[in-house]
Amino acid sequence: MIFRSKYNFEQGPIRPPNEANSLLVRVTRNCPWNKCLFCPVYKGERFSRRSVEEIKSDLDSMASALKKTREISVEKGFGGEVNRQVAAYIQSSYPELFSIAFWQYHGGENVFLQDGDSLLLPVNDLIEVLKTIQNKFPLVKRITTYSRSRTILRRSLKELTELKKAGLSRIHVGLESGNDRVLEFMKKGVTGDQHVEAGKLVKNAGLSLSEYVILGLGGEKLWKEHALDTADVLNRINPDFIRVRTLAVPKLSPLYKKIENGEFKLLKDDQVVREEALFIENLETIESSLYSDHILNLLEEVCGKFPEDKNCMLGVINRYLTLGEEERDIFKLGRRTGYFRHLGDLESSNLNMPVNKLYKQLQKEKLSVDDYIQQLMLRFI
Ligand code: SF4
Repeated sequence: MIFRSKYNFEQGPIRPPNEANSLLVRVTRNCPWNKCLFCPVYKGERFSRRSVEEIKSDLDSMASALKKTREISVEKGFGGEVNRQVAAYIQSSYPELFSIAFWQYHGGENVFLQDGDSLLLPVNDLIEVLKTIQNKFPLVKRITTYSRSRTILRRSLKELTELKKAGLSRIHVGLESGNDRVLEFMKKGVTGDQHVEAGKLVKNAGLSLSEYVILGLGGEKLWKEHALDTADVLNRINPDFIRVRTLAVPKLSPLYKKIENGEFKLLKDDQVVREEALFIENLETIESSLYSDHILNLLEEVCGKFPEDKNCMLGVINRYLTLGEEERDIFKLGRRTGYFRHLGDLESSNLNMPVNKLYKQLQKEKLSVDDYIQQLMLRFI
């Protein structure tokens, strides 16, 4: 028998970076495709749909937890508000309530439906889940989820519009690349044209669309095609958001073996930045907002809205590429060790000191900065 406390609910392993403060509601487990070479997340795990009853039971637990956190706040004299003090008290005294307190502390308005491909749930089930979330948590303003382009194409415009009406706000899609050779090599199970069709369908249904791109996914062989075709596909979709993350390959992902046997050659940081420049230069006719909000990205400050911020984004890249080799190495080390966030941090002597020390140490030991960085990046996956 499984013991289930009043506050027990199930949550999956990942969510998009910008959903870090959202309530995570698991509606399916794992990924139904699970074949992408670069993706370690659900390897070895089986996909399953959760029943509406199971999900509703989780939502009941979450609502009870929410009620309890408010009671605690009232007892502490804060009138039901979960502020920093209340959240800290709950973290130490009621750890089982902490994820709900954390959500409330961050406004309690956003929900993310997990795991990898929620649109595989029957539409009516999903509608019931969306309505239940809004009934139980009336302050919720945004509900988003992941879905694969191939799965979106199995839904009609009418079904997607019904989901929008029922409260679904946004779909996050792992586009990864717009180049068919890259998509095929990486076993993404979709073509560039299918990405375009699915993206347009989501937009026509009035849903917000966030498309994820993996910088470096073409490797040394296909980096140009990857940059150009990904820009082309995004130009045809004109999504609300484009989010980039940089490829890093942990041992668990099948791509690791292809790197070991020489079938795939990873780009180094500077090559990724050149690819990013080519990609952004070729994003035209769109009104999307681009974010680099993943810790794996070297240049987090490359972000903005098209078309007005395009030159500014290219300016950041150009500024990095025109640094001397030693300065670029120091910036890479600083960023990957967490001392730097922005290029301007190179000018801070406080931040620079420990990074310079590490740089000199690597030089003394004749270690390559790029090899050292590849190892560091695996910590962030
Ligand atoms: S579809 Fe997404 S979650 Fe599934 S294997 Fe590919 S990248 Fe991973």
